Formats: sequence, structure tokens, C-alpha cells
Amino acid sequence: MTSSNLDILIIGAGQAGLALGYHLRQTSWHFQLVDGHGRIGDSWRNRYASLRLFTPRSYSSLPGMELSGDPAGYAGRIEFADYLEVYARHFALPVVMNTTIQKLDRANDCFRASTESGQIITTRSVVLATGAFQQPIIPAFSKSFSAGTLQFSPATYRNPGEIPAGVVLVVGDGATGRDIAAELADSHRVLLAAGRSRRLVPDYILGRSAWWWFDKFGFLRVSPGTPLGRYLRRSDPFPGRGKGLKQLALKGVRVMSRLVNVMGRRVTFSDGESAEVDIVIWTTGYRDRSDWVDIPEVKDAQGQFLQQSGISSVAGLYFIGRPWQTNRGSALILGVGADAEDLARKITTHLQAASVIP
Ligand SMILES: Cc1cc2nc3c(=O)[nH]c(=O)nc-3n(C[C@H](O)[C@H](O)[C@H](O)COP(=O)(O)OP(=O)(O)OC[C@H]3O[C@@H](n4cnc5c(N)ncnc54)[C@H](O)[C@@H]3O)c2cc1C
Repeated sequence: MTSSNLDILIIGAGQAGLALGYHLRQTSWHFQLVDGHGRIGDSWRNRYASLRLFTPRSYSSLPGMELSGDPAGYAGRIEFADYLEVYARHFALPVVMNTTIQKLDRANDCFRASTESGQIITTRSVVLATGAFQQPIIPAFSKSFSAGTLQFSPATYRNPGEIPAGVVLVVGDGATGRDIAAELADSHRVLLAAGRSRRLVPDYILGRSAWWWFDKFGFLRVSPGTPLGRYLRRSDPFPGRGKGLKQLALKGVRVMSRLVNVMGRRVTFSDGESAEVDIVIWTTGYRDRSDWVDIPEVKDAQGQFLQQSGISSVAGLYFIGRPWQTNRGSALILGVGADAEDLARKITTHLQAASVIP
């Protein structure tokens, strides 16, 4: 059962919402988390079957509770989802699941969140912890494929067994595109359309995880406005996990240049090569799902959320877990705890200024 007249409503009980809940537990504010999924961790459970985290366990814990297991190893998606569930229980975080907010708007000095079941939650402040990787981007090209071409996204792709025989085109060579291309190469002919060039770093340098070095040199805490932050944002250096383009080619993946044209089953790439494909998997990034937020000031013309260090232009409306919210780690497990601690302080200052002192 959700409460009304809250001090703080957190929408989204993934790692970002939970980390904020952990810090708010140490205050006396009346707060609640709501989430549309059935179980805590479902964002992870719903991802493709073979997914292993790209951050080792030693860099995959939320504040106050270590992720158990080999610290140098990588957790699977179910293991991490279960960790989030245990985390919420351990800290007795006030989470209500199966509660999708269909509309968020303002009413007098408060925010009003309307649920699918018609319940209205009123709250003095609200935090959107709704995740930056929820809604896959499907480019307009998708409409130019012939009707018989099967199309998938990270939200619908599960495992190679569900992909019928035929030539598969994976579009986008980020971590997800590379994972999917690599595993499909065992059973299918796979083309991978690569976009901008990526700076991959070795997984281990002098016996230490690349994440250890990123951490040691402060790369994970560089703010986005500095020259180094701008460079890191542009180049997005990333451990290769054995999935560099050369390694993928050795596995049998045909690495193509950028996809520039689609007509029926025929696709053309920026270097002029073309091919016929039967199945397409779009791994071309994510966009915000924001149509339910009826507060225009917090969105740009494309519906992307607007914030700086978690603060929006609307007093009392905050964000947590945004990419580069304060630094490279903000949308990663390893960085969201520090942002949450900082945001809990900012919300406290706002609520205290607005009246009651807890
Ligand atoms: C394929 C993939 C692999 C990744 N691997 C790693 C990794 O190895 N290490 C790492 O540190 N990071 C990784 N990340 C990045 C990041 O850690 C994850 O995306 C993580 O799930 C983000 O957590 P979050 O809490 O911000 O959002 P989410 O986990 O997406 O949670 C958001 C929650 O908000 C809820 N919600 C959204 N809208 C509403 C609404 N209107 N009403 C109610 N509830 C709502 C959703 O149901 C969801 O449960 C990965 C991301 C992807 C996409």
C-alpha cells in the first residue's frame, strides 16, 4: 500500500533508487519508493540471458553491503538482481512494487503521482530514479525493412535459441551489440555494423583490473565539465572483455562500417558494401521514457530529461542514476552511492528550507 503526503517519493527501485533509499533511511523524512516491475531487480532479470556485468564484483556494490563472491569475477544478471532484492530487504527500504506512475504533475506546492490503479500519491519532493537504459532507440531505418525481416532490440532479444536461421545484422557495437554478435556467431552468420570508433582498454593492466586503474587515476570521478571529463565522455574508454573488433572477426563476425541505407532486405554500409539480411538486432542506445512526466520544464524537445548534478529547474524535483550526472560513475553501480549521499543532503536542505525540520 502506498502512502500519500510524503516528504519524498522515489520513482524507480533499481540500484539508483535503492542507493538513495539507503541514505534517506538515515534521516527522519517520510519517504517511499515505487516501481512498476513485479520484483526488485527486474531491469536486470529482463536483459539478455547471457549478460554478465562488465564491472567486477569489487566494483559492483551499493553502499553498506558488499556483493558476495569472487571480487575479481563478474556477476551474472540474476545474481545481481537478487543482490538488489536482498539489499532492499536488509535495509528495510519502503518499496512498493507493481506500481507504475502513469502521470506526474504539480499541484499547489506539491507533486502528484497517479498510479495505474488510479491512486494519487502527493509528495513534497520527488526523485526520478527511472533508469537511463530503459527504452531502446530504434532508428527510422527500421521502417524500410521488408515486412518479413524480424527485428529485435535489447528489450526483446533473449538468447540465440530464439533467433531463427538466417543472416543476422547487429547494428551498434557498444557492449550489448558486441555481446550479442559474439554469442550469435556460434550459430548464425552475423554482420556487425560498427558506429564511431571506440577506445577499448585491456581488461587487466599489470595484473590489476582496468576498473582499478580507472579508480586509482580518478577517471571515475572526473566531472563532465572539465577538459578531461569532456574527453572521457567523447571517447568512453572501456575494457574490451575479449570483444575487440579483431577478436569478434576471429569468431566469425563480419565487422561492417556504419549502416547508411536499408531497402527491403538489402542494407548498405558507409564504405559502399552491401548485403542481404533476414534478422536485425538494434543495439543503438537508449532514450528516456518521459511522456508520463507532465512537467515540461524538466524535458528537452526530444523528451530527454534535463538536470544538473541531479537537480532540475523545478524546485523539489530531482534525478538519480543519470549518465554523467556528476561523473563517469553516476550511472554505474560503483558511482551511484556517492551521488545518492550527496542528493540526500540536497533534498534535506530543500525540505528544511521549505519548512519542517525532521
Ligand atoms: C546491458 C547493460 C549492461 C550493464 N552492465 C553494467 C555493469 O556491468 N556494471 C555497471 O555498473 N552498470 C551496468 N549497466 C548500467 C546500469 O548499472 C544499469 O542500467 C542499471 O540497471 C541502472 O540502474 P537504475 O536504477 O538507474 O535504473 P534501472 O535498473 O533501469 O531501474 C529503473 C526502475 O525504474 C522503474 N520505473 C521506470 N519508470 C517508472 C514509472 N513511470 N513508474 C514506476 N516505476 C518506473 C523501472 O521499473 C525500473 O525498475 C548496464 C546497463 C545495460 C543496459
